Amino acid sequence: MRYLLTLCTYLFIWSFSGAQEQPNIILFFVDDLGWQDTSEPFWTKTTSFNKTYRTPNMERLADEGMKFTQAYATPVCSPTRVSLLTGMNAARHRVTNWTLHKDKMQPMETGHQTLSFPPWNVNGITPDFDIDHAVYATPFPSLLQEDGYETIHVGKAHFGAIGTPGENPLNLGFDVNIAGHAAGAPKSYLGVQNFGNIPEFEGTPWPVPGLSSYHGQDIFLTEVLTLEAIKAMDHSLEEEKPFFLYMSHYGVHTPIMPDSRFVQHYYDMGMDSTEAMYAALIEGVDKSLGDIMDFVVEREIEEETIIIFMSDNGGLSAVARGGTPHTHNKPLSSGKGSMHEGGIREPMLVKYPGVTVPGSETDAYLIIEDFYPTILEMAGVTDYETIQMVDGESFASWLDGNTPGMQDRPLYWHYPNDWGPTGPGIGASSTIRKGDWKLIYYHDDGRFELFNIEDDIGETTNEALEEQDRTRAMATELGQYLREVRAQMPYHKESGLLVPYPDKVKI
Ligand code: CA
Repeated sequence: MRYLLTLCTYLFIWSFSGAQEQPNIILFFVDDLGWQDTSEPFWTKTTSFNKTYRTPNMERLADEGMKFTQAYATPVCSPTRVSLLTGMNAARHRVTNWTLHKDKMQPMETGHQTLSFPPWNVNGITPDFDIDHAVYATPFPSLLQEDGYETIHVGKAHFGAIGTPGENPLNLGFDVNIAGHAAGAPKSYLGVQNFGNIPEFEGTPWPVPGLSSYHGQDIFLTEVLTLEAIKAMDHSLEEEKPFFLYMSHYGVHTPIMPDSRFVQHYYDMGMDSTEAMYAALIEGVDKSLGDIMDFVVEREIEEETIIIFMSDNGGLSAVARGGTPHTHNKPLSSGKGSMHEGGIREPMLVKYPGVTVPGSETDAYLIIEDFYPTILEMAGVTDYETIQMVDGESFASWLDGNTPGMQDRPLYWHYPNDWGPTGPGIGASSTIRKGDWKLIYYHDDGRFELFNIEDDIGETTNEALEEQDRTRAMATELGQYLREVRAQMPYHKESGLLVPYPDKVKI
């Protein structure tokens, strides 16, 4: 009986929307790609960055699908990736900073001058209930797997600490894992350096695992991952199984290294050498997107394959880049690590054949945990149980162009941690976005920043004092949410007092 009901639902959805039952789903996930790191404009104006970078395949995907101009992630890698896999907000899953070593905070956290940080889930996500300092949850790939999908992980994982089950994507619902482990960056992008697997780096966490057949070759990591992803998709097609490909590039994360296929063009433009290498990293990732789109066309699966493009946090700008820090995502302020838009707003595209209108666009906002219920809905998995409470809301119904107008749904971010570098919007904080407004509460000094994102996209004018009533109302809503999810807060080292929730601060 249940099967019949499900079948009827599938048929109804299929005939109603033109969507395929069990479509292939490709999540093309780029690491640290900024909102302006593309020749496809995501703002109302074309910027100098759009004119510098070359991403013809992002342009192609935008032409064939739908563009999201206000898609959000968290400011750093692991919180975003854990929210993606669990559908939980970071305040709830507590993997609020980036993970690496088991049971250990990052050195910049233990050595912080004024704050002592809470025992956040430093071990990341876990499929086992008995791992301390980890979030026990049902990852969505395991639900796809149960529903008959081949689930393929290619590239950067960064879901769990070294020595915990969550470090291996095979423990998180993936059938295949190519090159994913605990670390969030490659030691080297170069095949001639064995992607870091050389005696000099032995014992460090950064060498990329599992690609030994390419060692010694003059080939860039981005290309290797693409070739391997194509092989894995081919295998699924041979098996006649629908596939979910998580194409999770290490690019464009540091180390910023030269992709020899593309870098000369940018050197010839006279660019700063770091910026030239960064631009080539971007173009390499874009070429990968094009190769995967071409594969889908060549294998005649275009009509039954959804492609989603997203990045995991804002473009790096505080350190390790050429030029002036905090300017690489303009008109957005700041970059990776920041609660300003430069740290959290991502370039996002979706092509859902039969559903998305080619060349369409929306400025409706969403956040990374929304991918969880959306991807499951796309796959036709609607009747499922999870260990965790899912915070994300599906945006599948927006994809035919029927997107919400002015939204009043609040979005939340929570980062009771330290990233290291300093700059605008960087530091331990809690944030709410609602409608056009965003309120940031800084844990260290109890300061508020209130911006009207619609009128002031560059977050140049703090209206917290001018708009006291609004500040108070948003601080109340933020405080209530943090209390509801039992969000962790840091302590002040000097007084030993817990940082209060924002609704307890006098405004
Ligand atoms: Ca990242």
